[in-house]
Amino acid sequence: MSCQAVAIIDHAALRHNLQRIRSLTYPAKIVAVIKANGYGHGAIEVANTLQADAFGVAHVNEAIALRQAGCDRPLLVLEGFFDAAERDACAQYDLQVVVHHQPQIELLQQTTLSKPLQVWLKIDTGMHRLGFPLDQAEQAKTQLEACANVAGITVMSHFSCADDRNCHKTEMQLLLFSQTTAPWRLPRSMANSAAIFAQPQSDFDWVRPGIALYGISPLGHQPASSLGLKPVMTLQSRLMAINTVKAGAQIGYGGTWTSSRDTLIGIVAIGYGDGYPRHARNGTPVLVNGRQVPLAGRVSMDMICVDLGPNSRDKVGDPVTLWGDGLAAEIIAEQSDTIAYELLCGLTSRVALEHING
Ligand SMILES: *Cc1c(COP(=O)(O)O)cnc(C)c1O
Repeated sequence: MSCQAVAIIDHAALRHNLQRIRSLTYPAKIVAVIKANGYGHGAIEVANTLQADAFGVAHVNEAIALRQAGCDRPLLVLEGFFDAAERDACAQYDLQVVVHHQPQIELLQQTTLSKPLQVWLKIDTGMHRLGFPLDQAEQAKTQLEACANVAGITVMSHFSCADDRNCHKTEMQLLLFSQTTAPWRLPRSMANSAAIFAQPQSDFDWVRPGIALYGISPLGHQPASSLGLKPVMTLQSRLMAINTVKAGAQIGYGGTWTSSRDTLIGIVAIGYGDGYPRHARNGTPVLVNGRQVPLAGRVSMDMICVDLGPNSRDKVGDPVTLWGDGLAAEIIAEQSDTIAYELLCGLTSRVALEHING
């Protein structure tokens, strides 16, 4: 029996979440976002399971890897190509590309591609990260329409605060997007996961869910279960040792947790070397044999300590859940001053992915 952490990836939950998003957004089409190795879940396996209308990745190389693994669905590169070699690869591998700034238009104008590309023109409605400023959007569209290497255009933008119900920026972005693009009569796309749940008017023709597919709530104030989402990844390990300690014992590096009673301390084979967040605070919940026990002391590279309590009957080898089924990753993220996105993407190569219900 190995004492190494595994991430169990539940494909039934994955399909359920896509279906949930479909029911909310139909008849919009869905770009299932599987960048960063499918948010840590395995991009190829996720793509093989989901009946999405297209898949989105950040980089050209991520898309090529999917093609080489046999994925024949439409693939959208969300950052587009970076240079001439990537541009040519997009034609070779039949990739759709986001065009977000002038250098990409120039690269398209400078050549004759083996096959024209489907282009997603990205305009900036307030995120101020990628995209043409609104006053240059019309010109970018005109240039793309005139370019022989462009097979068709979808127009898109990205929300900066769709997860924050108290922020009025979302309505402003939506209004600017609608006004700018309405006369164009092109297919449109705006919604990420948060907007799918919080801003139904933003669905347009294509929605772009990422985190919600993986069963994580995109809205800080609403748990995933209340949105009809099921966690896909369950991170598990085992108790590798159980020690009796006296009241007053200080546990782990820096002695940051002191036991108030005689108790049993469980040592779990997981640490920041696996991607468990080092910043998880004392008291962060851990599921041991289905009951929540508190993290005791600092997270080490390969281990954490938990207070099993004086009456524990847990045994070495018993299973431990760090997040997932029964313990939302959002809770661990909050206890670690981060977001669940970072936890899911941050598992290291030491953690094996085990795909179930595929
Ligand atoms: C990552 C990404 C998404 C998905 O965002 P979620 O918050 O995970 O739903 C959608 N659109 C773009 C452009 C992205 O980069």
